[in-house]
Amino acid sequence: MTPHLTLTLLFFLLGLVFGSFFNVVGLRAPQKLPFTADRSICPHCKNQLSWCELIPLLSFIFQSGKCRHCQHGISIMYPAIELITGLLFAFAYIKLGLQIELIAALLLIALLVIVFVSDMRYMLIPNNVLLFFFPLFILIRIVSPLTPWWSPIMGALTGGAIIVIIILASRGGMGGGDMKLFVIIGIVLGLDNTLLTLLLASVFGMVVGVVLLSLKIINRKQPVPFGPYIAAAAIVAYFYGEPIVAWYFNFLS
Ligand SMILES: [Zn+2]
Repeated sequence: MTPHLTLTLLFFLLGLVFGSFFNVVGLRAPQKLPFTADRSICPHCKNQLSWCELIPLLSFIFQSGKCRHCQHGISIMYPAIELITGLLFAFAYIKLGLQIELIAALLLIALLVIVFVSDMRYMLIPNNVLLFFFPLFILIRIVSPLTPWWSPIMGALTGGAIIVIIILASRGGMGGGDMKLFVIIGIVLGLDNTLLTLLLASVFGMVVGVVLLSLKIINRKQPVPFGPYIAAAAIVAYFYGEPIVAWYFNFLS
């Protein structure tokens, strides 16, 4: 195997393992539970899981998606999050190679996967997670700045301000967690791509909303978490923001 292929595979495996950890963080952080102290248990029969039941992806496949003790189905969310994290880690390495910006990309993926899990499950974005990542991203943008250098500052201010306006105008729908998340996205992505994230998140939310409504999976009154759309939009904007923005202005002119 070439070194490039070996490293791609390594980042994929790293992503699988971290994805399994982000599942735990996303499910435990909102309840303020420690991430490491107690071993994982089956949420149904409360049996402690052994190491062979905690192998990312493989345990799920070999146990055919069922708990070994009580045969209760395991949520597809666990292997799906592991696989997505693995693919995103490998993709980030392929796109960026070994440079400081790769750390920014991996941290961004980490934050967004955790936000995705928490918001899907509890409809909230845990403050302690946002506070953990906030200083890391400021540090990253000092070491690996964007051009122009003030773009992250403007991105954070504009992103946060727009969400505050949406919160005030809509009375619900979005919350303080979404606002703080957009401040962080502003720092990592800069002004243009933060605005693009807002736009894409609304489009994703609308498309998925219409599909879920027409399939009668949700009803009109049901509140839906916005975090998963923000997470997906921020990933697309981070990796493909420049070509999308360029295409958009070409399209307009
Ligand atoms: Zn069980």
